[in-house]
Amino acid sequence: MSITLDSKIPEGPLADKWGNYIASQKLVNPANKRKFKIIVVGTGLAGASASATLAELGYQVEAFTFHDSPRRAHSIAAQGGINAAKNYQGDGDSVHRLFYDTVKGGDFRGREANTYRLAEVSVNIIDQMVAQGVPFAREYGGMLANRSFGGAQVSRTFYARGQTGQQLLIGAYQQMSRQVGLGNIKLWNRVEMVDVVNVDGQCAGIVTRDLLTGTFESHSAHAVVLATGGYGNVFYLSTNAMNCNASAAWRAHRRGAAFANPCYTQIHPTCIPQADDFQSKLTLMSESLRNDGRIWVPKDPDETRRAREVPEDERDYYLERIYPSFGNLAPRDVASRAAKRAVDNGQGVGPLKNGVYLDFSAAIERLGLEVVWERYSNLFEMYERITGEDPREMPMRIYPASHYTMGGLWVDYELQTTVPGLFCAGEANFSDHGANRLGASALMQGLSDGYFVLPYTIAPYLSELLNKPVPDASHEAFSAAEAEAKTRFEGYLSIGGTRTPDHFHRELGRIIWDYCGMERTEQGLEKALSEIPALHEEFRKDLRVTGDGNSINQTLEKAGRIDDFFELGMLMCRDALTREESAGGHFRAEHQTDEGEALRDDENFAHVAAWEWSGDPMAPVRHEEPLEYEVVHFATRSYK
Ligand SMILES: Cc1cc2nc3c(=O)[nH]c(=O)nc-3n(C[C@H](O)[C@H](O)[C@H](O)COP(=O)(O)OP(=O)(O)OC[C@H]3O[C@@H](n4cnc5c(N)ncnc54)[C@H](O)[C@@H]3O)c2cc1C
Repeated sequence: MSITLDSKIPEGPLADKWGNYIASQKLVNPANKRKFKIIVVGTGLAGASASATLAELGYQVEAFTFHDSPRRAHSIAAQGGINAAKNYQGDGDSVHRLFYDTVKGGDFRGREANTYRLAEVSVNIIDQMVAQGVPFAREYGGMLANRSFGGAQVSRTFYARGQTGQQLLIGAYQQMSRQVGLGNIKLWNRVEMVDVVNVDGQCAGIVTRDLLTGTFESHSAHAVVLATGGYGNVFYLSTNAMNCNASAAWRAHRRGAAFANPCYTQIHPTCIPQADDFQSKLTLMSESLRNDGRIWVPKDPDETRRAREVPEDERDYYLERIYPSFGNLAPRDVASRAAKRAVDNGQGVGPLKNGVYLDFSAAIERLGLEVVWERYSNLFEMYERITGEDPREMPMRIYPASHYTMGGLWVDYELQTTVPGLFCAGEANFSDHGANRLGASALMQGLSDGYFVLPYTIAPYLSELLNKPVPDASHEAFSAAEAEAKTRFEGYLSIGGTRTPDHFHRELGRIIWDYCGMERTEQGLEKALSEIPALHEEFRKDLRVTGDGNSINQTLEKAGRIDDFFELGMLMCRDALTREESAGGHFRAEHQTDEGEALRDDENFAHVAAWEWSGDPMAPVRHEEPLEYEVVHFATRSYK
């Protein structure tokens, strides 16, 4: 299959595009909607909101998750908040400003029309969630409260203490459950999608593996939506839930869906630093803490005193010093690199000298402990449980970690991938954030895609299929895909080597972190591209999966996911190597300003790189979607 990248951006001025689209798109009438079956894979914020809304509209929906309950999706972990251009604070916010901040935050590498629509729809999300009973924080007079997040000079982040994702997911889940109860959604849990099936060039369904019994099954539908989350766990250590993986997107990629900008990964500046080599998870400390916490390191790399004993004039509040106008709320990519520079410079703190301080003493002095505790107590308690240190007494120690992936399946304005009938929503697609995502905008995008975009944009595709039957799951394409998946999983079991999937994951993650992490070089990427295939070969020969394939076997599940991470890792490095510029989270050391900031090359790289699977993970085919800005002008991104 050869790929064509038609972004399908609607005609008209930027601010009218979405309105024009809605007014002129093809519709499916209410009586016909029930004739269409849609599979939604994933029940996080993007998948749950899409399933609930599509079912509410009258489509037959089947929703799949590998969790025991939709409520265990990784979205539950989101802490800090969700953006919306409501301007409740009267501090100068607007749809345009949110749009501009997002384009600038993404280092001018996002698609302008999608980003504008995201900002436009943001205001509806809050109303929708409030109507569903999500308990957002409120001010004394009853108005919804807001706080600030990185890369913005207004307060537009709505939150529910440090549990915003949990409260939002409960809201979306309850709408989904209502539709399950009404019989409009069939929910499949503990079931993993292991392949996508195309018939005559159109997506016709999926193949699944039941995680309890190991049974493979085919499911057909008129359209499939993947809302399967991001691939941050490719780094092994990340803030993502342990189960997050890239297999659904990767399997779709192998079936013809282009993968866009895989090298755009986000390293979040405020995570608890790694404590030892055998740690398997890193914990995020929400960006909201940077509203009141001040980041610093001792000026002297040989400093040995405890934080409190280091006098003010011997501390370097480096973000406030380098970026006076945004200070501690500099965007994530900028703040992460600054922390790395400080630690590389020997100024790191903590037993391994691998962190920087996030200090609340000034806020406690200014606002009182009660106010600070009210704002952040659950985060403080989480930090203390993990480190044994009380942030009220000692500054937190933080360091950047893999957190979010801006790359993902390429989608057009309708959220359709390069495979007709295969749509992609939420973190799994590449759409709105360019080369760096601003804080509190992933929840916004997931819910925008699921509640407000996909329910409109899926209709034109379906309308063409009216009165055509649901593709037949007994078609040979399904049996072939099922047989292939079975052979693959039996293969993992039969290798009989000596190393666990976790071993290979840790080694792979180390290579990707070292060479395709916060800083990349041509030499390092070339090295990664020789080491990853060699390690993959070792995986194929020396993998050991214990147990069998007919009952719960998490080692077997992991083997499949890590096999896919290997191929994705190769694509990430290839993408990073080919993008000869620095932009957002993609920092090529060869391309930086004299002050160490990212140096873009707009002439040659103002495009989305969308990769086509060629059958050989080391030889993917690169396509380009030019990024044409009608309203925004390229500018050097500055937070000074
Ligand atoms: C610790 C943390 C805190 C965060 N805080 C914030 C925040 O405050 N604000 C913000 O905007 N963003 C935040 N983010 C980012 C945000 O949480 C995520 O980007 C977002 O929740 C992703 O939602 P999603 O619906 O796209 O995917 P997910 O929530 O990851 O859901 C994926 C779903 O797909 C299913 N799935 C995946 N693969 C398969 C398969 N093969 N078969 C079957 N099912 C499958 C899973 O079971 C799950 O249901 C945070 C992220 C982390 C890690």
